[in-house]
Amino acid sequence: MAEYVFPPPPVPAAAVRGGGLYPVSRIFCVGRNYAAHAREMGGDDREPPFFFTKPASALTPSGAAIPYPPGTDDYHYEMELVLALGAPAHAVSAPDAEAAIWGYACGLDMTRRDLQAALREKKQPWDLSKAFEQSAVLGEIAPAAAVGHPRSAAITLAVNGETRQKADIADMIWSASEIIAALSRYYHLGPGDLIYTGTPAGVGAVRAGDRLEGAIAGVGAVAATIG
Ligand code: MN
Repeated sequence: MAEYVFPPPPVPAAAVRGGGLYPVSRIFCVGRNYAAHAREMGGDDREPPFFFTKPASALTPSGAAIPYPPGTDDYHYEMELVLALGAPAHAVSAPDAEAAIWGYACGLDMTRRDLQAALREKKQPWDLSKAFEQSAVLGEIAPAAAVGHPRSAAITLAVNGETRQKADIADMIWSASEIIAALSRYYHLGPGDLIYTGTPAGVGAVRAGDRLEGAIAGVGAVAATIG
């Protein structure tokens, strides 16, 4: 058997509440899934869900110190509910989609907002603004077997102890099941796939030294410090 020409990178993985590691295959993200955030980004709240991705290598554990990234002067937090899939899902209906959810977590979709705005203006791909190192912060995954399937829960994000985002996951335009159903029309989703489900209103810029603390009631928490 041929040998690797250099040691392969480690498998990205997330901590599971109660022990164990969840190996990550792909990271999908939903844009504009709360009406108030869609409006603050200049859209309306009736658009179908749209998706972008981050490399699995962007995964960063909660509690990490994240260096301020290069290429931006407007580095933003986005607090989000994250779905962790544990079963195949392709062309599934929304009612059937929930069975594919293995667990839930709190995540930060870190964003170079100035690049996102410039790329959007030029109708170019978002990768430079979304798919960069340490841009997918993730807290412990709470197994659905332990916490059930939350449909309503407070979602909050504080910067240096001051609340900046405060909403309820019930305010999502597209529910977890509807998101999986929509995405499964284009992919053979499966175990190891994470889906960041979009952020509420109140996104904003961070500076070096800032402490981010997010939480979703009954799901967990996520934190990061900007280096
Ligand atoms: Mn987001």
